[in-house]
Amino acid sequence: MTELARRTGAVNLGQGVPELPSPPGLLEEVAGAVRAGSNQYPPAAGFPALREAVAGHQRRRYGLEYRPQDEVLVTTGATEALASALLALCDPGDEVIAFDPVYDAYPAGARFAGARLVPVPLAEDGDGFVLDADALRAAVTPRTRVLLLNTPHNPTGKVFTEAELAVVAGLCVEHGLTVVTDEVYEHLVYDEGVHRPLAALPGMRERTLVISSAGKTFNVTGWKVGWVCGPAPLVAAVAAAKQFLTYASGTPYQEALARALGGVEAWAAELRGTLRRNRDLLSEGLSRAGLRPLRAEAGYFLQADVRAWGYTDGVRFCRELPLRAGVVAIPTSAFQLYPDAPSHFVRFSFCKREESVLAAVEKLLKAA
Ligand code: PMP
Ligand code: GLN
Repeated sequence: MTELARRTGAVNLGQGVPELPSPPGLLEEVAGAVRAGSNQYPPAAGFPALREAVAGHQRRRYGLEYRPQDEVLVTTGATEALASALLALCDPGDEVIAFDPVYDAYPAGARFAGARLVPVPLAEDGDGFVLDADALRAAVTPRTRVLLLNTPHNPTGKVFTEAELAVVAGLCVEHGLTVVTDEVYEHLVYDEGVHRPLAALPGMRERTLVISSAGKTFNVTGWKVGWVCGPAPLVAAVAAAKQFLTYASGTPYQEALARALGGVEAWAAELRGTLRRNRDLLSEGLSRAGLRPLRAEAGYFLQADVRAWGYTDGVRFCRELPLRAGVVAIPTSAFQLYPDAPSHFVRFSFCKREESVLAAVEKLLKAA
């Protein structure tokens, strides 16, 4: 879809690539680190200062304690953390449960390990999605090895509520499941919402690998600095896989982010303001254009129902939209594994400049 946007000159609200600025001080720090010669391999587990900053962040925000020495591992983005975690935890034939729609790296990561992703559909509740506890319970089998939870969720923008997290946690404890959480949008929760890591619930810390990254929080998706926190034996297993995927990466970025993470709260509050405004502009625009928007409580994305424009298939809608309206979106089906999943949703990203969002809205209204 990004290629289609390039070819057609359409406004690209497809891929979640931010057009928004990064903290200026952070950019200066990286430039300084490069010039000062910080250009060789960092320690395999990540710079000690960054591991300490991540541990401090988890303690301050969530009351979760991790030892920087052996319970925090820096990775090449959340993507490598996810792949390494699944390689570390799964044997061939194992099953990994995740909520559908699923971020596309999860089924691929499970396949790397010879495991299979079992999608559990989220239930629609009018303008958003809720946990279907029965569907989750029914998905657990003797082969279930890992539950992978993404909250805030891509592509729906859903934030799992405390009550939903309690249901998920209860089931993981009951069945002895190991848990991997993907929390890359942890700082981007709008309105009165709060992000709570599943690891903070009773009985969960000891069975959970928490994954996040700097990409979304600081608008530096190209830097690919992520991390994983968890009990030492689980983190050691992830490190064993990571060692032979990339070994280590991002030396100057790690150095700069170690300092930036301490001041993340003020920065993230400002970024949330920008993104929330964009979300509202896009949501209102989609509504006016007749493309019913769903609730987006967090993250970069908003989903819309394309049926009022005469489509039942989001793929066809997204292929035709650049020519019909000059806008690019991504069909939600790219994230759906569940056989009966609805096909009429598409995903628009709003991590863009306000002008891009307004331009897209104007084009959609014209084409409506
Ligand atoms: N998980 C989710 C849910 C995402 O949306 C993304 C964004 N690309 C990632 C993981 C990947 O993060 P990173 O760029 O740090 O690898
Ligand atoms: N995570 C971003 C998205 O969902 C982009 C990353 C990618 O395209 N692999 O659009």
